[in-house]
Amino acid sequence: MPEKRQPETAVINGRELSCQFCGNTTFWRQEVLIDPDRYAEYSLGWSDAKYNAFICSSCNHVHWFLA
Ligand SMILES: [Zn+2]
Repeated sequence: MPEKRQPETAVINGRELSCQFCGNTTFWRQEVLIDPDRYAEYSLGWSDAKYNAFICSSCNHVHWFLA
């Protein structure tokens, strides 16, 4: 049975995240692990790079944070 997901609010360093584009405050959260061999431009030269991506549930603008 597929899990029914709902977009959620997000707090980063004590501040509630709001969409930079539309001001919406609910997001789909996605953890992303970047393979540095294939995506060197995103890995900042680190051995691996893990990100939290918060996708605005209204306009789909993606906000990236290093995890
Ligand atoms: Zn938005």
